[in-house]
Amino acid sequence: MSGKSRAWVELNMDHLQHNVEQLRSLVPETCRLMPAVKADAYGHGMLPMVEKLTELGIEDYCVACAEEGVRLRKAGVKGLILVLGYTYPARFQDLLDYDLTQTLVDREYANELQRVGGGFKVHVGIDTGMHRLGVSYEEAERIAEIFQTPGIRVGGIFSQLCVSDSCKEKDRAFTLEQIGRFEQVTAWLHRQGIKGFSRHLQGSYGMLNYPWLQYDYCRPGIALYGLLSQEGDWNSSGISLLPVLELKTRVQSVRKVNKGEGAGYGLVFRAGEDTRIAALSIGYADGVFREIAGRGYVLIRGKRAPIIGRVCMDQMLVDVTEVSDISQGDEAVLIGKSGQESISGEQFAGWCGTITNEVFSRLGGRLERVVV
Ligand SMILES: *Cc1c(COP(=O)(O)O)cnc(C)c1O
Repeated sequence: MSGKSRAWVELNMDHLQHNVEQLRSLVPETCRLMPAVKADAYGHGMLPMVEKLTELGIEDYCVACAEEGVRLRKAGVKGLILVLGYTYPARFQDLLDYDLTQTLVDREYANELQRVGGGFKVHVGIDTGMHRLGVSYEEAERIAEIFQTPGIRVGGIFSQLCVSDSCKEKDRAFTLEQIGRFEQVTAWLHRQGIKGFSRHLQGSYGMLNYPWLQYDYCRPGIALYGLLSQEGDWNSSGISLLPVLELKTRVQSVRKVNKGEGAGYGLVFRAGEDTRIAALSIGYADGVFREIAGRGYVLIRGKRAPIIGRVCMDQMLVDVTEVSDISQGDEAVLIGKSGQESISGEQFAGWCGTITNEVFSRLGGRLERVVV
């Protein structure tokens, strides 16, 4: 029980397995999953998640930076580790020492890597319209040149869809445009006799809404964790996803506040009538956004307890007037189930005024990760 003392996340690995199976069933059999486990696996805990994913037969992973890649390699990952972001030259040696595959973030970056040399493995990012990273799809000749550059070994090309989560006509048209541009680059390379490289384009929403695409890898993040970015997002796949994570804390102390008295910083909560309040041992340093106060609730003994006052760094206050038999040490659920009630990640993120991706990736390092 030591892992459940102050505030923690519970990880349901059966749900992770379910999501992996569902996502696999959605795309062509030849497409392999290369999960995005950046930002500590969206706050779930990179190592426990990767351990389970590896057990499920997944070998390849996407991370944001070289440091995350090194962590994965040290944890025993043998497959491809793709660094999705820029690596500063001072860390180039890590790419070689740990056999990481670097994203080629633009044309100049190829020269940068070439200057150092040593056989860097890269996947070339193709900018098909998001305008974040990659070489423009219009510079197909340059992309071909990169394949010939000494000191660089190109294993693949990829791009990123930026409106695949939208069912609006213009967004669907743009996504098809991006797919077309990516195909155009491939066709050009093939015409130059350049073959034998892998291709990948889809993150979660690319998989859910464009599952028929035939590429070598998919890069699911949020969906793998059993979540959509927001409640009601476009998901035309029909597959079911189950949330992997529950967020919990404990009741530290319960007290009565008389009608007319205030509570918490700024005394922003004012008791309209005699109220019982509880202090919980979790706060914004753990990833509970301050915006949630006055909007959301937590679950204690299967009952809803509204979040009141201002969220503190390590603590928060809830109204427990309606929760009978509450005692110090009781479990309080911020995301997950309690009795007949439940709070989804999407609902929680909505109360925070943002998307699940942001809320989950900001779950603090102080939370313990408990596999249940
Ligand atoms: C983060 C990321 C992903 C995963 O995105 P989800 O929407 O969470 O599935 C895929 N590809 C790239 C390039 C990313 O940066």
